[in-house]
Amino acid sequence: MQNNCAICAKPLENDDIGATKKLINRGMTEGFLCKACLAKRFGVSEGVINEKIEYWRESGCLLFAKKQ
Ligand SMILES: [Zn+2]
Repeated sequence: MQNNCAICAKPLENDDIGATKKLINRGMTEGFLCKACLAKRFGVSEGVINEKIEYWRESGCLLFAKKQ
């Protein structure tokens, strides 16, 4: 499993990987991006990505760990 962002090499969190899968390709196994690079790629602010992640988490998407 890839551990760092494919663009900026920042260590990836579970949410970064989940968001990349949701936004680009659910079946992908490499080329994951951090939230900042995802935001740049889609031309939105990082806040928009965070909102989407929270929305997906609330929806029960299994790609995103539930907050304790
Ligand atoms: Zn990055």
